[in-house]
Amino acid sequence: MSGEDLIKKREKLLSYYYKNREKRILYQREYDKSNKEKKKAQDKKRRETTNKNKLRVIQAYSRKHYYPVLLKKYKGCQICNSKFKLEVHHKRYTKKLKDCMIVCQPCHKKIHRKVKE
Ligand SMILES: [Zn+2]
Ligand SMILES: [Zn+2]
Repeated sequence: MSGEDLIKKREKLLSYYYKNREKRILYQREYDKSNKEKKKAQDKKRRETTNKNKLRVIQAYSRKHYYPVLLKKYKGCQICNSKFKLEVHHKRYTKKLKDCMIVCQPCHKKIHRKVKE
């Protein structure tokens, strides 16, 4: 094999290597990106589940502890004084009494409709 051929062969190998390197980097980048998105989605799902669980715990807690207190204090819905279908509404989702309200179901629905708007 002549020296020239060797050089050509080497160049070919090098270009092959670099082409592949680019491909590898691109592939790695794509992989990282899709992985990041997957991880993000997983994190989001986990956060949502944690939040949902937290809300459930707070709701159960206030229904048990604050509902009787609020009922005794207000004797009905804090908005319309109705005595039916009373529920605890959270102005903020905490376990504090001051963040809870006792409201009837229709008023409760209205509150949440307003909050969403
Ligand atoms: Zn009401
Ligand atoms: Zn509520």
